[in-house]
Amino acid sequence: MGSFEAGDLQIITKKGKQLKKILVANRGEIALRVMRSAREMGIKTVAVYSEADRNSPHVRYADEAVLLGPPPSNQSYLLGDKIIEVCKELEVDGIHPGYGFLSENAIFCQKVTDAGIKFIGPSPEAITVMGSKLAAKNAVAKFNVPLVPGTEEAITDIEKAKTTAAEIGFPILIKASAGGGGKGMRIVANIGEFEEQMKMAQGEARSAFGDDAVFIEKYVTSPKHIEVQILGDEHGNIVYLFERECSVQRRHQKVVEEAPSPVITPELRKKIGESAVNVAKACNYYGAGTVEFIVDDQLNFYFLEMNTRLQVEHPVTEMITGFDLVKEQIKIARGEALSFKQEELRINGHAIEIRVYAEDPTNNFLPDIGTLVTYKKPEGNGIRVDDGFEEGMTIPIYYDPMISKLIVHGKTREDAIHKMVRAIDEYKITGVKNTLKFCKFVIEHEQFKSGKFDTHFVQQYYEPSLLSVEKEDEMLVAAMVSTLLLKNVKTPSPNTETSGELSQKSNWKKNRSNLR
Ligand code: ADP
Ligand code: ADP
Ligand code: MG
Repeated sequence: MGSFEAGDLQIITKKGKQLKKILVANRGEIALRVMRSAREMGIKTVAVYSEADRNSPHVRYADEAVLLGPPPSNQSYLLGDKIIEVCKELEVDGIHPGYGFLSENAIFCQKVTDAGIKFIGPSPEAITVMGSKLAAKNAVAKFNVPLVPGTEEAITDIEKAKTTAAEIGFPILIKASAGGGGKGMRIVANIGEFEEQMKMAQGEARSAFGDDAVFIEKYVTSPKHIEVQILGDEHGNIVYLFERECSVQRRHQKVVEEAPSPVITPELRKKIGESAVNVAKACNYYGAGTVEFIVDDQLNFYFLEMNTRLQVEHPVTEMITGFDLVKEQIKIARGEALSFKQEELRINGHAIEIRVYAEDPTNNFLPDIGTLVTYKKPEGNGIRVDDGFEEGMTIPIYYDPMISKLIVHGKTREDAIHKMVRAIDEYKITGVKNTLKFCKFVIEHEQFKSGKFDTHFVQQYYEPSLLSVEKEDEMLVAAMVSTLLLKNVKTPSPNTETSGELSQKSNWKKNRSNLR
């Protein structure tokens, strides 16, 4: 067996029922979420972690755990080679990359594959094509997928680009081809701003992605962000698991997601779903993936990009379809064919997810750090919390400040909204400023309830003063503190907002309600 090559191993992985032990190259809620499904499938799990995550639930949950290095991602979770070494040492035969970090890194995917380890995700080729918004557009154009009017190549000649922009009609959007996470995107209102905005987009793209290629897209007014979950196997079968409505966004980042979309009719669902399948076909896709579309006020839809990984908001799709998407990913990685057909898929009820961030909604969503002094999750019928923290833990500053995802599943959209309000009310987080109240504001807003909203929802309807209870109470507390200080009385040290304080504040509020 001297000539045993990595390639041979790969073939065995494809043929045999491999994936007996997988490493999750991620942290927090998604690492835990992946390991839970693996455990249910009888698969052993390996966690990796940074020094900041020593006490994280995902580390304790895994069968084995390996320290990667210091907290910064580039010294820990992004160390692809080191992660591959760990796999070899521990005889791991598959890597699940989660989302973010190495999940959309084609070079890593290739190296994993070359090492004879199964990458639980798509091929490196598919990641490469879809990783570039321009390459993606070019690939899908041949498959009859509607595209937003715009340039097909990166801007090289400013004067030519200005002419194109004028032809498309302002406002236009300048976008980074390598973009992600809402970065490298600039709206240009008129030709006078073009050059300046383009340079800013290029600068942002260069520093965030190391690639300053930008292009022009028509800025769709009153846009809705609707995306389609797809699953494909290695035998060419691709299905769509319906859409997710993700129009409630802040700085192009999703805040609330739901499935199905309240505005999509069954006919449109079929059309947009089939378009998503075509996008997947354009890159011979296998695994779980998401095709994002922008939808205008006439319900015309256009392809935006494809995310070649499990998405943050995948649970809403799981709730309405009954599928465990991680298990499906693992089965696909084992070389199994999809066990169902498009016609067999049904939507059951309605699901909504909110992203609970350690950010201050009353102060421009500034990330907050600190210890989760109180951390009590809501419970009961139709409620799911995906998180990676426990009471007493500290939210590290090094990573995405998401505390958890709160997901509810109801019989109808209205039912899901009521459930979400209850769940938010019963979720107790103190010690760290968070977006729960902000999310409640969104969910209870008439425009959200009506389903008639676009990506400008937050900008249009939200202002910090609307989180009235807190705001008034904070002002009241501030007033009381300053009065006390004036009286030179010793006060308790100012703390971050806690619900204990809040309930006290509520009493103060009651007491002064006649003053309004
Ligand atoms: P989703 O549609 O799943 O919400 P996001 O764009 O919010 O996708 O990204 C999901 C995660 O991936 C976030 O943690 C985000 O910080 C990270 N991410 C997104 N794009 C990139 C990128 N190009 N490079 C590194 N991390 C990224
Ligand atoms: P990213 O890789 O950062 O996720 P996307 O192309 O998916 O980039 O766009 C992110 C968000 O920006 C969309 O969800 C949408 O809100 C907004 N957006 C993108 N393209 C357009 C467009 N052509 N017109 C209006 N809004 C857009
Ligand atoms: Mg996107």
